[in-house]
Amino acid sequence: MNKSKNSVSKSPIEKTLDASTMSSFDHIIINANLATFSAHYGFGIETSDDENKHTDSIPYGQLEKAAIGIKNGKIAWVGTQDQITAHLPKYQASQITDVDGKWITPGLIDCHTHIVYGGNRSNEFEARLQGVSYQDIAAQGGGIVATVTATRAASIESLFAQSEKRLLALMKEGVTSIEIKSGYGLDLDTERKMLTVARQLGEKYDIHVSTTYLAAHALSPEYKNRADDYIEQVCEWLPILHEEGLVDAVDGFCENIAFSTEQIRRVFEVARSLNLPVKLHSEQLSDIGGSALVAEYKGLSSDHLEHLSEEDIKKMAASNTVAVILPGAFYTLRDTKLPPIEALRKHHVPMAISTDCNPGTSPLTSLLLAMNMGCTLFYLTPEEVLAGSTVYAAQALGLSNKGKVEVGCDADLALWDIARPADLAYQMGLNPTQGIMVQGQWRETL
Ligand SMILES: [Zn+2]
Repeated sequence: MNKSKNSVSKSPIEKTLDASTMSSFDHIIINANLATFSAHYGFGIETSDDENKHTDSIPYGQLEKAAIGIKNGKIAWVGTQDQITAHLPKYQASQITDVDGKWITPGLIDCHTHIVYGGNRSNEFEARLQGVSYQDIAAQGGGIVATVTATRAASIESLFAQSEKRLLALMKEGVTSIEIKSGYGLDLDTERKMLTVARQLGEKYDIHVSTTYLAAHALSPEYKNRADDYIEQVCEWLPILHEEGLVDAVDGFCENIAFSTEQIRRVFEVARSLNLPVKLHSEQLSDIGGSALVAEYKGLSSDHLEHLSEEDIKKMAASNTVAVILPGAFYTLRDTKLPPIEALRKHHVPMAISTDCNPGTSPLTSLLLAMNMGCTLFYLTPEEVLAGSTVYAAQALGLSNKGKVEVGCDADLALWDIARPADLAYQMGLNPTQGIMVQGQWRETL
């Protein structure tokens, strides 16, 4: 034990090690291999504000043969198995989880989803593959209008039941925090209904849900050819829903087929007046300056980004805005324009990865598959996609206390039956999740 302690005496781990700390945990996890994504343990993918480059960074911030002490739902201590062994007799068996050499990561965070919606569009998927054109489908009330119609028609109970299945699928693969957007109501009552269901999902499953107001997703059918009038409504509804406690952030779809930067700016001005952070669907199909606008408002994230320019990447770096990469939509649309990964790396813009789960362009409820797609389609590394669904996904939601295995962070963890962290990005379809812990509590059944 002494030899072991001496060998780590210069480690930051040692700073938190004392007898009173050791005997006060609510729970201890032992025999774990950790992918911490914490700079304290050597995780060193450089970010835009990181001037001290980690030349000796440790991949994944990994710590093998390790243990975690948990108190009041937070990570209270992280160290080596040897350090904790002598203290274990003070604990009851029920307070100790021996994970037998399995891997633990921070609980995964899906930072861009539209999981609350009514109906689905498999009928359109099938029709298109039988040769029916997008135009004909749209003329028959298909596309996003079909989802708006189904979402407006659904009772709150029905909308909850339909959305709950998607949340559970994500949680079964290690997700412990999720962002959920509105944007299929396009009227005040249905936007409220969607955000209410998102809040209810968080309450029922006792996980973190960040809600995002996305009324500026598409033009409401009632406002055909009157986009500016619709945006005026979007701006009027936001303070109402914010007052009701339903809004954590504000989003829009900035694109030639959706809203201009000037229209989005009007929504962002209202968000700013309410001290709400902003984010944006930007540069998915063309470059009309969405990410530059997000950077101007010091936004949390800019999302999609296939057509993002290097000039605007520099602006994102300066504003510490996260680039959220969404390979599910790229795959579903059979897109060929790759997001500028190399330039994002060059300018140290943190990259997150997400399912973008939605009924039209990404009917995907597997963050693990999104990670695999990020590697295979976009040439991201396994470490980048795992960081992108933990530490940088947390940053994309403004959650500084999640996404890392680090003292002081929430004890939100995922337990995996894998040989090494890269397995999470490598395998397709085999779910290696052994369990999740949220705020210090294991969720036995999902
Ligand atoms: Zn989206």
